[in-house]
Amino acid sequence: MPKTSFDYIICGGGASGLLFAKALCEDPFFSSHSILLIDKATKTTNDRTWCYWEIGEGSFDSLLETQWDNAIFKSHGFKTQFALHPYRYKMLRSEKFYASVQQVLQKNQCLHQIKAEVTDIQSQAEEVRVSTPEGVYRGKQVFNSIFNPKELLQQQKYPVLQQHFVGWFVKTQQPHFSSDTLTFMDFDIPQESATRFLYVLPLDAHTALVEYTLFSESLLTIEAYETGIKNYLSQLGITAYELLEKEQGAIPMSCFPFEKANTHNLLHIGTAGGWTKASTGFTFQKSHQQVQRLLPFLKRGKPLSRFAKRNRFWFYDLLFLDVLQRKNEKGGLLFQKMFEKNTPKTIFRFLNESTHLGEELRILSSFPIGWFVKALIKRLF
Ligand SMILES: Cc1cc2nc3c(=O)[nH]c(=O)nc-3n(C[C@H](O)[C@H](O)[C@H](O)COP(=O)(O)OP(=O)(O)OC[C@H]3O[C@@H](n4cnc5c(N)ncnc54)[C@H](O)[C@@H]3O)c2cc1C
Repeated sequence: MPKTSFDYIICGGGASGLLFAKALCEDPFFSSHSILLIDKATKTTNDRTWCYWEIGEGSFDSLLETQWDNAIFKSHGFKTQFALHPYRYKMLRSEKFYASVQQVLQKNQCLHQIKAEVTDIQSQAEEVRVSTPEGVYRGKQVFNSIFNPKELLQQQKYPVLQQHFVGWFVKTQQPHFSSDTLTFMDFDIPQESATRFLYVLPLDAHTALVEYTLFSESLLTIEAYETGIKNYLSQLGITAYELLEKEQGAIPMSCFPFEKANTHNLLHIGTAGGWTKASTGFTFQKSHQQVQRLLPFLKRGKPLSRFAKRNRFWFYDLLFLDVLQRKNEKGGLLFQKMFEKNTPKTIFRFLNESTHLGEELRILSSFPIGWFVKALIKRLF
């Protein structure tokens, strides 16, 4: 009879599921635990490109596509080019990540993987039942990264925006890019009543990933994003290029309390667990950090419902999203004010949630105060 009961079941083997499974396999404490990883897909392709910034060497440096020391921020009438030091901005493509994690998982005797669609997860007193068309699996504890947006979209209390984009990997005939400088945000394009910017990640002088990105509520047609990319390339004077690859994404940006769905034996992880930074959509590095917190937490044997912690950055993000939802066309101005009045190092530390209160007050005072006071009053009363 195939095994159906496990100590841990991980539902969804994407970024957070794999980061977690890998960490469990590498920690001898968990070597006697039985683990099941379920995903409906076999993940082997470059279905996404993850970027993040960190100081010094990181766990995935040997897999990186490239990394940058400098960045540009641009908006209408404002441009700053700066060194990222002490950070480096890193690009990891998913194919290498999936393959490298699989090498670790496949060596581990305690970890089983199945390809199946999870159709239901029921947390009960003694176990969690995970249903698939292949059968029901029982876990003492279950970690779910399968994102179901239903509850998020049914509520009105928390704004729900999306970081949505289409990216093209292009190869130009002439050298056009500076391979040590990425464009973090270029808002100097028609905003058309929404927060729109270009994100340019050069791999070398001829090759870059160019993403037309919005922070807004509704998705565009694919043609609209692609027209945005074409217009931008021509704005840069790039007319002769080859389109190598495309990617697209829509990442939820919300302070919705995802953690309320956790129970003593069921923890939501990744985007499903609120591990996406609400004000930016960045998830990969945050998931990595949460997994580092999760392992010692599991060793202490506490109920999983006590894992999630809200901090003051959650509240900053909430106010930011309140403003961004009401004044979506002003997103570029908000980021411009932040870059005009603060050092890039402080901004990146703030977005990483590692600043102290004094720095945060300085950053918050960069924004048009009235917009935030209104959002604050609405939240407090
Ligand atoms: C194109 C793209 C680019 C991105 N770039 C960045 C970036 O640069 N930096 C960053 O920080 N974040 C980025 N993100 C956001 C975020 O990092 C990713 O979305 C990340 O993959 C989220 O991790 P996750 O584990 O929550 O979800 P996923 O990685 O999506 O994993 C969920 C897994 O669940 C599986 N699954 C879904 N439904 C079922 C089901 N019913 N049964 C079984 N399995 C199921 C899926 O196959 C998938 O493997 C990007 C997202 C996209 C789409």
